[in-house]
Amino acid sequence: MESATSAIVKESLDALFDDTSFLPELTDKTREKAFRSLVSILSTPNHVHKSFLRIPLENGEIVRIPSFRVQHNNTLGPYKGGIRFHESVNENEVINLSTLMTLKNALHEVPFGGGKGGVIINPRDYDVKELNLICKKYVQYFSHILGPEKDIPAPDVGTGEREMDWMMGEYKSIHPGQKYRGSFTGKSVLNGGSLGRKEATGRGVYFTFRYMMSDFIGEKYKWLEERDNIFAKTALANYDKSLRIAIQGFGNVGSIIALEAYKCNHLNNKVIAVSDQNVTLYNSEGLDISALIKYANNNNKDLPTSEAQLEDAEIKAEVRNRDELLTLDVDVLFLAALEDQVHKDNMKEIKAPIIVEGANGPITSEADTYLSDKGNVIIPDILANAGGVIVSYFEWLQGRETKFYSEEEVYKRLYDKMKHTFDTVFPQYFGDAFPLRQNCYIHSVMRLSTILFRQGKLY
Ligand code: GLU
Repeated sequence: MESATSAIVKESLDALFDDTSFLPELTDKTREKAFRSLVSILSTPNHVHKSFLRIPLENGEIVRIPSFRVQHNNTLGPYKGGIRFHESVNENEVINLSTLMTLKNALHEVPFGGGKGGVIINPRDYDVKELNLICKKYVQYFSHILGPEKDIPAPDVGTGEREMDWMMGEYKSIHPGQKYRGSFTGKSVLNGGSLGRKEATGRGVYFTFRYMMSDFIGEKYKWLEERDNIFAKTALANYDKSLRIAIQGFGNVGSIIALEAYKCNHLNNKVIAVSDQNVTLYNSEGLDISALIKYANNNNKDLPTSEAQLEDAEIKAEVRNRDELLTLDVDVLFLAALEDQVHKDNMKEIKAPIIVEGANGPITSEADTYLSDKGNVIIPDILANAGGVIVSYFEWLQGRETKFYSEEEVYKRLYDKMKHTFDTVFPQYFGDAFPLRQNCYIHSVMRLSTILFRQGKLY
């Protein structure tokens, strides 16, 4: 299935060409040429690196595991993006995700380019020793293309602090005497990671939603009321009321969004459903998220799947089918699992008027158009889930300066940076009735094209 990324990048580029502020210094003819160069630069990655990691397993078998590192674009700085360990990883997916990283960093003015890595495994099928070897081999095979000034990986689905610690350790052994702290981000705090990095993506996602639905609308209420804009109407209809929230995914992103929503209790909002790869848990009165996080931490990161498990943990919830969460009657749906979750077969049953993308590319292109045409407010991945890479940037800076920010300082800097982006894109979104995703892409591409032009790359 095709995610919204590639189709909308193309659409945004077309819209950009009609925008008079796109390289206004050029004549029509050179402008068209510059535009064609831009399309070819952004629609193809700079490099696709592939390798089979040869891993001797504990049972004596030797497997060869396909793995990738895609370097999409480094116009704004070193390539940057996570490494995903998942069975569904494939080359196209990694290319798509690396493109999103280029756009995400450009949108938030993070001085990095876009990259992404992937390893085709289900990490649950391997023991700790084998996973450690997979991480080391990944770095050995790709060490020549990685580095603090070249390409800086971070966690993604299926990887976390532990994997980044192992990988940086291997990088350091391969490059003795060289600067190594900035070679990986998302490391544990004891190993040079940043305070707040682990929760940064989830907290940033919730902050984005809250900022739009509360601060921004509060401040611009009158202005929004006067706009004949379908998205402004949806947002206003949901302002100032207690919202029922459902969250798909209970990993590092989903569980933190749930916790933020639960703790914040803004206007009595309630998280009434959460789901993971096995199950949906539902309680119309609101779920006890702290208890669910505690349960998941003690049970291999899984949510309880039976009445008995819920009773033992003293958690009140109904057990429902995993995918039921998506079509529940709620006001806000956070998508924090994998890509392509909302697609042509379920898009008509989505009831939430507000959808927030914690995962990358969770809505297919077709579903995105369908829902946007109906007036659903969709807060896209590159806007909402950038907290991870922004704090990765702070981690990289702290590693260089060998000085550390307090958690409070990290979040202040994060929210200031995100707010700066919101204040650029929200007025346009609610002013022009142009889907927010497209709006964000245009900003990113505009920034990239200006720099590419100044670097002499658009001739
Ligand atoms: N994997 C995260 C993302 O998709 C974080 C990337 C990073 O910190 O480099 O944005």
